[in-house]
Amino acid sequence: MSNKNSQTQAWQALSGEHHLAPFSDYKQLKEKGPRIITKAKGVHLWDSEGNKILDGMAGLWCVAVGYGRDELADVAAKQMRELPYYNLFFQTAHPPALELAKAVSEVAPAGMSHVFFTGSGSEGNDTVLRMVRHYWALKGKPEKKVIISRINGYHGSTVAGASLGGMVGMHEQGDLPIPGIVHIAQPYWFGEGGDLSEAEFGTWAAEQLEKKILELGVDTVAAFIAEPIQGAGGVIIPPETYWPKIKEILAKYDILFVADEVICGFGRTGEWFGSDYYGLEPDLMTIAKGLTSGYIPMGGVIVRDEVAKTLSEGGDFNHGFTYSGHPVAAAVGLENIRILRDEKIIERVREETAPYLQKRLRELNDHPLVGEVRGLGLLGAIELVKDKATRQRYEGMGVGMICRNFCFDNGLIMRAVGDTMIIAPSLVITREEIDELVTKARKCLDLTLQALNG
Ligand SMILES: *Cc1c(COP(=O)(O)O)cnc(C)c1O
Repeated sequence: MSNKNSQTQAWQALSGEHHLAPFSDYKQLKEKGPRIITKAKGVHLWDSEGNKILDGMAGLWCVAVGYGRDELADVAAKQMRELPYYNLFFQTAHPPALELAKAVSEVAPAGMSHVFFTGSGSEGNDTVLRMVRHYWALKGKPEKKVIISRINGYHGSTVAGASLGGMVGMHEQGDLPIPGIVHIAQPYWFGEGGDLSEAEFGTWAAEQLEKKILELGVDTVAAFIAEPIQGAGGVIIPPETYWPKIKEILAKYDILFVADEVICGFGRTGEWFGSDYYGLEPDLMTIAKGLTSGYIPMGGVIVRDEVAKTLSEGGDFNHGFTYSGHPVAAAVGLENIRILRDEKIIERVREETAPYLQKRLRELNDHPLVGEVRGLGLLGAIELVKDKATRQRYEGMGVGMICRNFCFDNGLIMRAVGDTMIIAPSLVITREEIDELVTKARKCLDLTLQALNG
């Protein structure tokens, strides 16, 4: 503590005295205090000690266009001066929300040209839950209520979001999930595939959806929700057999498909949406994060035209948020999409930086601690193991956390999900910065291995 500057110490004291942090180990936080991040530019952060850090996570997967874009600050200031707030309730609207709805529908998959705005991804999934049940009620099938989701999926932290998600640690606190939400297995071959090949396991995991639909009765099932690639669960990229089989099952039964695109959306896979990458045809898509590059909170639900038509014939939808389509957030979202389009950022990800990152990242496969490197687009995961061949872990050692701390101390932010290290850098990361990321990652793997052996 004492070798930190006095300003850092003062801020860390405020944390203990006044702040209850999200997703933090409170005991650990009290002992060590938080790292204080004070500024950012491009893909780099600076902390209050003056350390420069490569942000391998784009904040929380959100800073698509990189830090320090004046255009986004400028449109926000302009909008604040012109119309800082008005709501979209009770037959009013304002230009930024309407223009953003149009821009979003232009980049969304064909046939999905309606948007409901929220303040976050969690609120987006709350909206999904209410919207799909309302939809089925309007269709004269009010008994279609159950939503099928996946173990270790992440759909946010509100009561509905955490219930839709399949995070055991979240369910344990607060008596979740709420009724009407059931979970099936995730397509996580490395962790759970056992002796099956990846292809066999992908098919097995997809078949769990059909099994669950039949068990519950299709007349009771409203929707299936899934991330195209599970992000917070550990960048879980389904085996190639998974999505085709799921699509086949969804085509057979009359239920809605919700793609949670909060991470995959807005370019992360090298396509506008993860659904574009996998050729999924969702009925609803949850969005947030990359929508505004995280510069200001905003989320939403993109809705297929057939679903929107039913809703539009249904009278009142008794749902909405004070900040739904907030004009300043909408102005930022609009400018963010303009930047992504005009600078061809997603094309560059697809053609140049994603292939380069994936190639460089896989070089880490030769490291003794690494059981698997996987990735797609600008998403990556590194599995830390004791034994490569058997995929055996270092039980109870907290290896991921050890590695994450070495990363922090060596100027790199990588996140640990158990013993899986994950990355999701900004979409504007350059080749040179990818080199920096991989070099630092290898160094931190070395330090972790040394710590384990020492
Ligand atoms: C982050 C996330 C959410 C929740 O978004 P918030 O804005 O934190 O509420 C939902 N779904 C996925 C896939 C996410 O990654």
